[in-house]
Amino acid sequence: MDVKKKKSAAPRSTARRPYVAPKLELLSPMGMQKHRTVDIASAESAFEDIGDVGALLAEFGSPLYIVSEKALRAQFRSFRDTFTAPGVDTVVAYSYKTNYLPAVCSILHQEGAWAEVVSGMEYDLARSLGMPGAQIVFNGPYKRREELERAVAEGALVNVDNFDELDLLIEVAGALRKTARTGLRINFQHGPQSWTKFGFSADNGDVIEALGRVKKAGRSLNLEALHNHSGTFQVNPNIYAKAAQVLIGIARRARELGMAPTIADFGGGYPSSIRLKPAFDVQEGSGANGRHLVPFAEAIVGALGRSRKAFGERPVMMLEPGRAVVDVAMRLACTVVARKNVVGRGDAIIVDAGVNLLPTAYWYDHGIDYAASEKLRSADGSRATSVFGPLCMQVDVLRERVMLPPMPIGAPMVVSNVGAYCLTQSMQFIQPRPAVVLMGSKGPEVIRKRETRSDIFALDKLPARLKSRGAGN
Ligand SMILES: *Cc1c(COP(=O)(O)O)cnc(C)c1O
Repeated sequence: MDVKKKKSAAPRSTARRPYVAPKLELLSPMGMQKHRTVDIASAESAFEDIGDVGALLAEFGSPLYIVSEKALRAQFRSFRDTFTAPGVDTVVAYSYKTNYLPAVCSILHQEGAWAEVVSGMEYDLARSLGMPGAQIVFNGPYKRREELERAVAEGALVNVDNFDELDLLIEVAGALRKTARTGLRINFQHGPQSWTKFGFSADNGDVIEALGRVKKAGRSLNLEALHNHSGTFQVNPNIYAKAAQVLIGIARRARELGMAPTIADFGGGYPSSIRLKPAFDVQEGSGANGRHLVPFAEAIVGALGRSRKAFGERPVMMLEPGRAVVDVAMRLACTVVARKNVVGRGDAIIVDAGVNLLPTAYWYDHGIDYAASEKLRSADGSRATSVFGPLCMQVDVLRERVMLPPMPIGAPMVVSNVGAYCLTQSMQFIQPRPAVVLMGSKGPEVIRKRETRSDIFALDKLPARLKSRGAGN
């Protein structure tokens, strides 16, 4: 992988360029019009070239995850462009935990994404893919001492979650005689569902206390960033406008104390084009129409634009999208294995992929359809059909009552929007996990092999005394 050779999206050091008066301005909806033609629609249509799903299943086995390189690149570019504004440097740090297939991360790094990681394992993966420490953002509520040592030594940005971690970071930086690039993760109440587990509260004085401790740490810490990640699949852009206000207020306070944060980090949480299940859905209905990211960009840029200088002459607007970038780029192909009439539910089919591969099916109505086939398309008599997975769990349901024609055994089906959290949260309950193929300019390439029984049990040890059946103690 030649990630290193690619141009990085590092915010160009302001020190090295001639001074240009900052030109922050509120972007008008009209100004963003140009972005509206790209976005989800183009990423989705990129899937048109995945070809014959039945043939892919025959070649690589069923079920099968399918990543579209074109869709992934299109969606990343669309996201970045939507969040590009005059007067600020945009940095997009891709959230690894959303989908850390090395091929997916590498494609996004080629596009200029930094790595946003929340564990030592993810940090190590980012380094193994050629990311320099300086382009890694280390988040999460649990970072071990040796992980912090590595991050500080390699110049990663560490967003601190709590006071114990802050003390540890000061200790680690002191012992290494280094200055830790430091961010503070901040939470605030914006409603009953606010994520207050993470970071320092802006509501109870903890942030101010943390600023004081960072200041007191002197050269061990350099406060570069203020960070908020308010949740996932946020449908209300106002949360980001509020986050901007909160971060700006704290940045001003930091400046009064003699510190100079330059990065306003808004985390992730931007929605994809998937739809929440009716029980969880918002009034106006989730599910994108191709311009759903624009209000989020407007909320953030508008607020940053109104308060010059809190983050320096040229603020860095950092974004850590996961779902909004990868969800649309992956699909799950599977096969109808049985048909049933289930009491209380009516028509049903069983397919060979369940919530083991689609844990997000508990919360979202994934698009699920038969793979294009003229024969089925012209078949009349579509009926509300429940789609069950193969697991021995009553809750293993991919979709309740979706309109489908009578599905023959062996028919291929395709589930859309499976790029976010499906693979990283997948489980190996009674079934090994399938292969992943990347559809790119070279045709289908396997980017993860399908698991076998020996992969699943590779780490087990059977004590010798248990080896012969019935040998006793
Ligand atoms: C999970 C996570 C993200 C990405 O969230 P999405 O909802 O997938 O965009 C970004 N930042 C942090 C700190 C996270 O934990």
